Amino acid sequence: MDTISVAAARDPQTVGQRVKLQGWVRTRRDSKAGFSFVEINDGSCMANIQAICDADLANYESEVKKLSAGCSVTIAGEIKESGGKGQATEVHAESVTVHGWADPQEYPLQKKRHSFEKLREWAHLRPRTNTFGAVSRVRNCICNSIHQFFQEREFLYVHTPIITASDCEGAGEMFKVTTLDLEQPPRENGRVDYAQDFFDRPSYLTVSGQLEAEIYATALGKVYTFGPTFRAENSNTSRHLAEFWMIEPEMAFYELDDNMSLAEEFLKRIASDVLVKCGEDMEFFNQRIDDTVLATLEKIVDSEFVRLPYTEAVEVLEKSGKTFEYPVNWGTDLQSEHERYLTEEHFEGPVILFDYPKTIKPFYMKLNDDDRTVRAMDVLVPRVGEIIGGSQREDRLDVLEARMKEQELNPDDYWWYLDLRRFGTVPHSGFGLGLERVIQFATGMTNIRDVIPFPRTPGSAEF
Ligand code: ATP
Ligand code: MN
Repeated sequence: MDTISVAAARDPQTVGQRVKLQGWVRTRRDSKAGFSFVEINDGSCMANIQAICDADLANYESEVKKLSAGCSVTIAGEIKESGGKGQATEVHAESVTVHGWADPQEYPLQKKRHSFEKLREWAHLRPRTNTFGAVSRVRNCICNSIHQFFQEREFLYVHTPIITASDCEGAGEMFKVTTLDLEQPPRENGRVDYAQDFFDRPSYLTVSGQLEAEIYATALGKVYTFGPTFRAENSNTSRHLAEFWMIEPEMAFYELDDNMSLAEEFLKRIASDVLVKCGEDMEFFNQRIDDTVLATLEKIVDSEFVRLPYTEAVEVLEKSGKTFEYPVNWGTDLQSEHERYLTEEHFEGPVILFDYPKTIKPFYMKLNDDDRTVRAMDVLVPRVGEIIGGSQREDRLDVLEARMKEQELNPDDYWWYLDLRRFGTVPHSGFGLGLERVIQFATGMTNIRDVIPFPRTPGSAEF
C-alpha cells in the first residue's frame, strides 16, 4: 500500500485506490450510527481529508474514540467519492494506528483561535495552524519561483560569505563576530586589539552580499545570491527583522533601465506563480487576512510599474496636501509613510523611484552628470512600501575613489573592490529583494515576524 499525501488523496483520480495517509488529527466527530469522522491534515495542503472510521475497527473503542486535535496517526484504507461539501474524496479506514497522543487538557491548539502574538510564543506549534501552514507553502513556492526565474535567464547562483570584514557601507547596523573574551578583551593603547581576534580584524555578520556578488558578476556576467542577511537595527517595526533572507542579482553590462525592467519582471513572475500554484492558500489569505491580496497580486502581473525620478516624487508629496509625520523636502530620505502614500494612494500600484540625491545613498552608486543624484532605484508596492532597493554601480575608478573620500571611507580598505574598476571595468547593476517583504506582500500578513519560521528581533531568539 502506498503512502500518499492528503493533497494527492483529495484528487478524485485516486478514488478506488487503497492507500496510507499520515498526519495529525484536526477534529473527531462521532455519529449516532456508530462510526466516527476523523479529519486529518498533513501540511501538504490547507484542506483536511476525512476518514470514516467504523465501529468494527479493532481499536475503535480503545483508541479511535479517544482521538483529539494534535494526535498523530496513520490511516490505511480505500479512497471513495465523498458526498460531503467541499471535498471530492474521503477515506474509509481499514486500520488506524495512533503514533502519539495530545492531551486535550494541555494541547494549546484546540478549537479556539489564538492571536498571532500568542502564536509567536509557540513557534514550535504554530506551523500546525492553517495560517502558518499556508505561509510556509507560499514561502516555499516563492523560493522555488526565484530560483527558476534566474536559472531560466542563465544567472549563476553564487554563495557570498555570511561572515565578512566589509560592511557594505550604509546598509545597516552590524552584528560583530568575535572569539575575544568579552569580559577581558586584549587591549592596545586602550582600545580593543582586534589583531588578536579570530580573523585578525573586526568582522561582522553580512548585511548584504552585493560587493562580493559584484566580483562574480564582473567575471561571469549574471549572478544572484540568496541567503541569510543580518541587521542589528533596534527598530521594532512590522517590516524589519534582525535576520532575514535576501536575493541579490548582479548583472554585468546592465544599466539602470535594464535593472528596473528585471526587477519588474521578477516581481511579476513571483506574483503570477503564487496565484497559479497557491490558489487554495491565497483564497484563505484573501478571506481571512486581507481581502485585497488577490486583486493586488493580479494588478502586479497586469500593470506596468510607474517609473518616477525621486525629484518628481518629492513634488508629488509636497503637492499632496497630506500632513506627514516626517516633513518631505528634496534631499531627505523618504519614510515609509511617504512611500506608502505614493504606491497606495497616488499611483495605486507599484512604483519604481530612481535618481536619488547622492547624499542619502552609499558610495558605490553611479553618479549622474548633474553631480547631485545617483542611479539608485527603489521599488515600492502597496502595504509594504520598499520591497526592492538597487542601483547601477559606479564603474569609474576616479569617481568611485572621490565618492569614498566624500563619505570618509578609506579607499585602501576597498582595494579589491577598486580593482574591479581597474581591470576591465564594465557598467553593471543589481538590486536586493527582501524575501520576507515579498511574502508579506503576497499573503497580506501584517507583521514580518509571521512570515519567517523563527523570527529574530530585538529581545527575541527563544526558538
Ligand atoms: P528599509 O529602508 O526598509 O529599512 P533598506 O533601504 O535598509 O530598507 P536595503 O539595504 O535597500 O534596505 O535592502 C534591500 C531590501 O532588503 C529592502 O528593499 C527590503 O526588502 C529588505 N530589507 C532590508 N532590511 C530589512 C530588514 N531589517 N528585515 C527584512 N527585510 C529587510
Ligand atoms: Mn533600500
